[in-house]
Amino acid sequence: MPPVSHITCDIVVVGTGAAGLMAGLAAASSGARVYVISKMPYQAPSPTTRAYGDITWSEAGTADELFRQVVETGGFLGDQRRVRQFVDAVPAMLNRLRIVGCEFDEPKPAGEGMPGTIRWSYRGVDSGQELLQRLSDASLAVPMWLFAATEVLVHEGAVCGLAAIGLKAREPVIFHCPCVILATGGGAAAFDRTDNPAGATGDGIVMAYEAGAELVDLELISFGYPKERVRDVLERGEELREELLALGYAHYFLGGVRVNSDCESSVRGLYACGEATGGLFGAGRLGGAALADCFIFGERAGHAAAFAAQTSHPVIPDDLPRAAEDRIETVLRGDRKPGPAHERIRQIAWRGLGPVTTRESIERALAELGGIEEELAFTGGAGRDEMRLAVEARQMHTLVRLIAVASLQREETRGCYWRADHPEPGTQSQLRNIILRRARGGCEVTSQPPVMTELTEPTAPRIGAGCFGYTNRSG
Ligand SMILES: Cc1cc2nc3c(=O)[nH]c(=O)nc-3n(C[C@H](O)[C@H](O)[C@H](O)COP(=O)(O)OP(=O)(O)OC[C@H]3O[C@@H](n4cnc5c(N)ncnc54)[C@H](O)[C@@H]3O)c2cc1C
Repeated sequence: MPPVSHITCDIVVVGTGAAGLMAGLAAASSGARVYVISKMPYQAPSPTTRAYGDITWSEAGTADELFRQVVETGGFLGDQRRVRQFVDAVPAMLNRLRIVGCEFDEPKPAGEGMPGTIRWSYRGVDSGQELLQRLSDASLAVPMWLFAATEVLVHEGAVCGLAAIGLKAREPVIFHCPCVILATGGGAAAFDRTDNPAGATGDGIVMAYEAGAELVDLELISFGYPKERVRDVLERGEELREELLALGYAHYFLGGVRVNSDCESSVRGLYACGEATGGLFGAGRLGGAALADCFIFGERAGHAAAFAAQTSHPVIPDDLPRAAEDRIETVLRGDRKPGPAHERIRQIAWRGLGPVTTRESIERALAELGGIEEELAFTGGAGRDEMRLAVEARQMHTLVRLIAVASLQREETRGCYWRADHPEPGTQSQLRNIILRRARGGCEVTSQPPVMTELTEPTAPRIGAGCFGYTNRSG
């Protein structure tokens, strides 16, 4: 095996999208020694570079209206404490972006006294690169490395490091650090049909789960499809599944790592921000809110981790990195090309867990995943793409299995989540967040009522709610 590199620092930020660069900038400006790593160069296509550039806009006088819209669009599953943090932080977040040199068009309020969106002034495919460039320029001192993270190292319930593959030198890398920030984005590219570029495979969500952190509402995924067809398709029940499988594409993960108001997961020192997290928006989100989430909570995660790192000095026990290095070696030495398994998992996810599901389609996906587990262990190679695909295939296999486990629990249709065999929303007393956690015997599933601090009387959820429009069940 190639020699192992060891790096000591305060914080590793995994991901160089909007959330990761914002977190890196905030952590570095708080004085922490930060490394920012990514399995792709930061200017390569990612959901952030591909974004249209619409960002939630609001003023002090419209914060309550924005709060109501976010909660209602999410079918009342969003954590209202975090939604309040979110809406109150919007004006300062936009100012911060202007200070680092980002340019915006005039805001577009949705009506008089209503919040709306503001669009960045960059145009064209991958115009998000312009914005990332401003954030990167502002965080000059932060080194960025082409590393694929493979696992978070945890000892006695707290982070003590991170294992990664150095994609240039093809070597295992062990970071010794008290804090890791997962800004790895969502997992829409784990589905065969998607508008997300390659690489959005939910790696951080799986790494958090493997490290013992809680995940929330992983079954809630927003799919895009031609808006004008939704009502039509809804009315034709039986044909709905096949029609949406042919028209739709996976777009955005609403579920993910469960975090508190400091963006810390249930594992001490493990933070997450951006699309890798869940629980903020519930079962649907407003257009523009995803980028605002990345900037607001990316910054918060960076500051909180920098503060925590000042007083935490963990030591990695010898056996932990060795086991992680062995797992990396199986990737570097793998003699089966990862491409076919990668593609097969995406197809299984799309057919079984795509825009409209049934118990039968979910159970079929679980059975099919079981059939490729063995093959996965032998995939890998020494090429940069092979290494990345092999890491992704392993992570996606777990991700898709966890989505299936969570989906079996949600027997209702709410927001963007459609179950053909349970076409109505559950009652108010059945309103639950579904929580997954790795336990000794496998995946532990629990559920809790959502945090409702302000709006406590849920209205009827809108079906298909989210950035692709709404359909009221009443018509
Ligand atoms: C076509 C499109 C248009 C959109 N338009 C808008 C819009 O106008 N407004 C809006 O609010 N939202 C929009 N969204 C959603 C929004 O762009 C995303 O939710 C957001 O950019 C996600 O940012 P992020 O930083 O969380 O993750 P990402 O941008 O996905 O970045 C993830 C980073 O993590 C890295 N990474 C992942 N796994 C690993 C690993 N194992 N090791 C190392 N690095 C890793 C990746 O290389 C990448 O650098 C759009 C999405 C798409 C696809």
